[in-house]
Amino acid sequence: QLSDDPINDVQEEVKSWAREKKTEIEALKNQEQFRREFLSNISHEFKTPLFAIQGYIEAVQEDLMEEDPDRAKVFLQKASNNLDRLSYLIKDLDEIAKLESGEIKINYQRFDLSVLIKEVMESLELKAEKHEIELIFKHKYNYPIFVNADREKIRQVLVNLISNSLKYGKERGHTFIKIYELHDQVLVEVTDDGIGIEEKYLPRLFERFFRADKSRSRQIGGSGLGLAIVKHILEAHQQTISVRSTEGLGSTFGFTLAKD
Ligand code: ADP
Repeated sequence: QLSDDPINDVQEEVKSWAREKKTEIEALKNQEQFRREFLSNISHEFKTPLFAIQGYIEAVQEDLMEEDPDRAKVFLQKASNNLDRLSYLIKDLDEIAKLESGEIKINYQRFDLSVLIKEVMESLELKAEKHEIELIFKHKYNYPIFVNADREKIRQVLVNLISNSLKYGKERGHTFIKIYELHDQVLVEVTDDGIGIEEKYLPRLFERFFRADKSRSRQIGGSGLGLAIVKHILEAHQQTISVRSTEGLGSTFGFTLAKD
């Protein structure tokens, strides 16, 4: 059907096509920037431990072994710690890449959440002792709490959140793990009385490589990927993660799971 003004129609069509292309180009540019930032973050994260390893090994090679064998041992241990850090980083990157490509399948199963929480607490007991932090599991249910989720992935979520509460907790502090039964969901909360997080950082916490206090977090060590992994895993379950925190007082991370 011809309109009254065919030239105007064509002009409008061209304009709308141009708008579409512009949006496409912008999306591509964003992707490109994203990719560039991602790569630069990765190389930065790799450089720190690599340089450290290089430094310690060189020191030992310079005959330190004979001059001061005890110190040489310490240096080798430090090199080895940095190697561990590199392998954790690679493991986390691998996990993130799989989660983001949608390659990972959520293997839903029915399991008792309190049993899993106790397992994770046991596996982190030594770390907690090292940080002099007491892990406390609190809930008022004396029956199993069955959920429908991927048990191994939820283990990873719990490990990441509880490890953070130890890393950013204070000595002789406490980490509380609590569960609450909601209507058709279970809410899990991990609360620490540690350093807390400045409010302005809260919205960016779950971005990969984001670290709230650069200098302090860097001393503590970690890849900045833990919370990004947590968020991906929960999103893949169609569940959510939230955080509240007061600087200097502590933080609470909470996530939901579907009841079974
Ligand atoms: P990483 O701990 O490896 O740096 P995460 O993704 O696990 O990476 O956490 C991102 C940042 O969020 C951390 O660098 C830290 O600044 C902040 N953060 C996470 N958990 C806590 C916590 N329980 N208390 C205080 N800050 C935290």
